[in-house]
Amino acid sequence: MSRKHALLTASGAHRWLHCTPSARLEETLPDSTSTYAEEGTLAHSIAELKVRKKFIESMSTRSFNSKMKKLKADPLYNQEMDSYTDDYLDYITGVTMSYPTRPYITVERKLDFSRYAPEGFGTGDCIIIGGDTLHVIDFKYGKGVVVDVEDNPQLKLYGLGAIEAYGMIYNIKKITLTIFQPRANGNTVKEWTIDRDKLLDWGVFTVRPAADAAFKGEGDYAPGDWCRFCRAKAQCRARAKSNTALEDFKGINAPSKIESGKFPAPTLLTDEEIGEVLKKAIDIEKWAADLKEYALSEILTGKNIPGWKAVEGRSVRKFDDTDTAFSDITRAGYDEALLYERKPLTLAKVEKVLGKAKFNEIVGSHIITPPGKPTLAPESDKRKPYAPHDATSEFKDVINN
Ligand code: SF4
Repeated sequence: MSRKHALLTASGAHRWLHCTPSARLEETLPDSTSTYAEEGTLAHSIAELKVRKKFIESMSTRSFNSKMKKLKADPLYNQEMDSYTDDYLDYITGVTMSYPTRPYITVERKLDFSRYAPEGFGTGDCIIIGGDTLHVIDFKYGKGVVVDVEDNPQLKLYGLGAIEAYGMIYNIKKITLTIFQPRANGNTVKEWTIDRDKLLDWGVFTVRPAADAAFKGEGDYAPGDWCRFCRAKAQCRARAKSNTALEDFKGINAPSKIESGKFPAPTLLTDEEIGEVLKKAIDIEKWAADLKEYALSEILTGKNIPGWKAVEGRSVRKFDDTDTAFSDITRAGYDEALLYERKPLTLAKVEKVLGKAKFNEIVGSHIITPPGKPTLAPESDKRKPYAPHDATSEFKDVINN
């Protein structure tokens, strides 16, 4: 599976819709890939093959096995990929069965949304159409960044592209978008539905003006949480400016003693000020990490970042050959049992060993979800505010009776 990319990609839409000049700026910077991205590409290929065999092509078992064998020969392949892509296939099977008659289904479909964004296109992992509903399913193999489906611009652009492709053939009224992210923490399947007219309005009134500006490289640089996926994230001056503006923060630079009749700032920050500064500090933390990563990679290619150098990081001692080292220890008279510890597998690993269905059947009743530790999050975070569990609330039913 090889994918070509447009300037205005669907996957970059969250960024170029907010920061329109970023698309042309990115063009001038080298693209990079990572092992995680390559792992995702392989998982996509396995998922695609499974869906093709089950729903799209009459593929002999022999041909399927030989294609799968080639994919499994990839050094990035691991057993987990097989079980996660099986889950994906199960999900798609469930969706197809939810329609009263067999729906239309396709995979790896090029979706052209250039009516809204010049030269814009992307690739939809799976499109299912039945009744009045168009279903766009996106398989995300990454686990570091948990992706939301509600109002997700990437999937909405795929939806617009799918309406372009199928809107004349099918009477589509609703578009259901799915993020299938099997390795994400928490909810791994998220669905969201939008009316066709609402989606088309978004295409015309939100996407089109921003995309036109982005295509021409016009507009203002606008730093935000989308910067983390931008190729310019370390070198961008606008991002640097917004992250070094802490000194302009109103209370911090007020005089510390009475000067020419002005009142001094209190020695301690107020809680309101801490809330404000913390918002900025979180962005600065991410920005600093991007700067470090950039500076190290530049130095390793022989460039000079004034004031910095690369050094060897902390190293941990290890045996050159564990088997030989252990046999030397046992030959010296030590019991082999001293060298091993017996530890239970984690819940996730046990689930992988048994498979989801058997796992639920055998130990489903033993699974509990203890409350997580309180952690700080911005107000915009979708999770409910932390509510301490105390004995009164746990036993309130008993007390009330
Ligand atoms: S780093 Fe942020 S502000 Fe700078 S070009 Fe990229 S998206 Fe825009």
